[in-house]
Amino acid sequence: MPTLLVRNADLLVTMDDQRREISGGGLFIQDGFVLQAGPSAELPTEADETLDLSGHILLPGLINTHHHFYQTLTRAVPAAQNANLFNWLKTLYPIWARMRPEDIFTSTQTALAELALSGCTTASDHLYLFPNGSRLDDEIHAARELGLRLHASRGSMSLGESKGGLPPDSVVEDEAAILADSQRLIEAYHDPNRGAMTRIVLAPCSPFSVTGDLMRQSAALAREYGVHLHTHLAETQDEEVFCEQLFGFRPVGYMDHLGWVGPDVWFAHSVHVNREEIQLYRATGCGVAHCPSSNMRLASGIAPILDLLAGGVKVGLGVDGSASNDSSNLIAEARLAMLVARLRAGLSGASLSGEAAPPLMTARQALELATLGSASVLGRDDLGSLQPGKCADFFAVRLDHLGYAGALHDPLAALLFCDPQPAAYTVVGGRFIVREGQLQTVDLPRLVERHNRAARRLLQDA
Ligand SMILES: [Zn+2]
Repeated sequence: MPTLLVRNADLLVTMDDQRREISGGGLFIQDGFVLQAGPSAELPTEADETLDLSGHILLPGLINTHHHFYQTLTRAVPAAQNANLFNWLKTLYPIWARMRPEDIFTSTQTALAELALSGCTTASDHLYLFPNGSRLDDEIHAARELGLRLHASRGSMSLGESKGGLPPDSVVEDEAAILADSQRLIEAYHDPNRGAMTRIVLAPCSPFSVTGDLMRQSAALAREYGVHLHTHLAETQDEEVFCEQLFGFRPVGYMDHLGWVGPDVWFAHSVHVNREEIQLYRATGCGVAHCPSSNMRLASGIAPILDLLAGGVKVGLGVDGSASNDSSNLIAEARLAMLVARLRAGLSGASLSGEAAPPLMTARQALELATLGSASVLGRDDLGSLQPGKCADFFAVRLDHLGYAGALHDPLAALLFCDPQPAAYTVVGGRFIVREGQLQTVDLPRLVERHNRAARRLLQDA
């Protein structure tokens, strides 16, 4: 049982039940789990490996609850730069339809490398196109090699243009094949145990790209096996109009109608939700993946995150796909979540009308979204904080960066308020993924070269 002793961090942020922040803190880790978290002087003095984190801040690994790794191949595509969601999708679907299995593998490693360098240790991904023989297996194998925990969502699209859906018929799948592949993946890869590196999620893409029948059958299959459910919901006003016209419901009402609510369900976005819908989320235990960069990039709106939190809803953070972010930096996303929540508070006009000024999201709340909040959204009580019994997933950032100069009276706030800085160390279950700022599990220059070659090919054929 290998042991790892981490000590002398300038600040250890535990996110434990008391939200302890410990100067000179450290961890004692055995077999991938935290045995002790506290002042370095109280930890054992010997271990198989010792890491001295003088001059660093030490935090629980960040958790990303929504992404589309493959979209790293189509960042900043000229024709999709200035489009809202529906036009952006229609521009990109034909390009994505050219992907091959090796592109899924490469883009997964690219996205996870970026995430790891921003302190992320667990990521959920939503893959809903399987062109040219691509499979979710390609993504799972790439993630296992890179070493981050993965909640791999078996996405799907079945409602093509000819049936009133948004995607072209060429990228949608047969529903029986979707369900058979979903079952195969659960049986092959899903690990329900504490410390799991791989979990499977069933994730029909959105109300406008699958049938209600596929949503119902996916939920029945997921619940038979105890796996979670995920989809995009209430992202834009266009979607609201689409759902009202086609189904006679607002998006959240439609999910309720389909039985798609519960503690095993989380929705990406939830920008356009009203008071009753927030109450429904709380009452049924649905979670939300907040993706502020994407919501800004696609002009979708500002999600009511403080209202969701005040309403008792589980909220986590996601970078969303790299064609609508166009980055996979989770610290930057937490910073943006804090800033955009403040913008929403300012735009509410409450102070102008003489009411009390609305609360502003704090740096600690933003960090909580990306750690404990995301863990609860994914159904992981073994992640999100550094305390005995939790997975040994952490990251550390050097505090001598130029961008933090003048902010070290509160290093945690510096991480959120100041220019985002890369992780010096990212560790998953005791395994070093980033050490001294360098990725340990992949040859980064070769990966970038391979990735750019694949991206060029996809766009050249356009
Ligand atoms: Zn998305």
